[in-house]
Amino acid sequence: MQMIGDLHIHSKYSGGASRNINIFNLALNSAKKGINILGTGDCLHTSWLNNLKTNLIEYTDGVYYLDKVPNIYFILQTEIELIWKYNGHLKRVHFLILFPNFEKVNESLKFLSRFGDLGKNGRPKIYSSVESIIFGLKAIDRRIEIIPAHIFTPFFGILGEKSYFENMGEALGGSINLIHAIETGLSADPFMVRRISELDRFTIISNSDSHSTAFHRLGRESSVFYLNKINYRHLIESIRANKIVKTYEFKPSAGKYYYDGHKKERHENKLDYYCSPKLNLEICPYCGKSLTKGVLSRVQKLHDKKYTENISFQYIVPILSLIAVILGGTEYDRKNLFLYDKIISNNGSEYNIWEGKSNFKGLPEDLISAINHVRKGNFWFMPGYDSNYGKLQINN
Ligand SMILES: [Zn+2]
Ligand SMILES: [Zn+2]
Repeated sequence: MQMIGDLHIHSKYSGGASRNINIFNLALNSAKKGINILGTGDCLHTSWLNNLKTNLIEYTDGVYYLDKVPNIYFILQTEIELIWKYNGHLKRVHFLILFPNFEKVNESLKFLSRFGDLGKNGRPKIYSSVESIIFGLKAIDRRIEIIPAHIFTPFFGILGEKSYFENMGEALGGSINLIHAIETGLSADPFMVRRISELDRFTIISNSDSHSTAFHRLGRESSVFYLNKINYRHLIESIRANKIVKTYEFKPSAGKYYYDGHKKERHENKLDYYCSPKLNLEICPYCGKSLTKGVLSRVQKLHDKKYTENISFQYIVPILSLIAVILGGTEYDRKNLFLYDKIISNNGSEYNIWEGKSNFKGLPEDLISAINHVRKGNFWFMPGYDSNYGKLQINN
């Protein structure tokens, strides 16, 4: 059966995350989005882990659910920040990790707590070399899956501009053969990934990296799996064998690190600056410091081929964001959330609309037209840069 998975989210214990996140509203909102399999987020954090152990019931090997929301399946998941020194540079890279069961989470927790404080942040900082951590986790259990997260983002992506790695081989050394997949991140899509030959060996997966339960964050990117059985082994095998049906993608220009630029907080004149990577600008004209180079410029630098055709993915825009653009206001306004709820009750879930099964009864004409524009790819964004999201524009 086909299952939509969002395998990278965060709990309220991660930096910058909403304080309202709990396991129940994650499950309830995922059901409205149409997500079938959700990462737990932050499963190495003691308080969150206790919460998970108290509330989750085992469905099959490595798959869990909540009594009150039985149709959402959870996979034990975290993100870590790995920090190590290499060639005189301090490397800070994010990795997504999936675990086969609670026992292996406990063993990994013991191992990783030698290299960092796991109680401090939902996404813990681990001070050790990438090879020792990957080999160490794999020695605990080969089924543990380690995936470089949002690979091109400037500060924490393995190929991001501030990581100063030329390629995955240099970054991962001997542990490269234990890595099977990479995460695109919001500012990149599979076309960009497939312009770099070295990445051809890796499966592409997409996730929301959501730090909240809001409907425009949770499930804004996802991967569609075809599973004969719903269990951890089948999920991991489909990732390792590159059998993912397709990914749902944010338009890269909507992501926070697409163009080169500086956000206004960096400037005395309180103005943002951004520019196309075609300008090849290194220095910000407002403050004279080096610009935050975006994902597009990074891919331009690293690419060695044209993208491969026939990559299976689909661009989407969170319906709640469409509503906010069409009706005005924000994704947090009550009238917009009210309309969103109406759409969900008409359609069962948001993803049903992107899957082509939609019931537009009673919706404003311009919203129906906007949804159809997105389906046809007839939309664009004022590009995002330096941690500012892009701004949606719909063609008429
Ligand atoms: Zn991250
Ligand atoms: Zn500047």
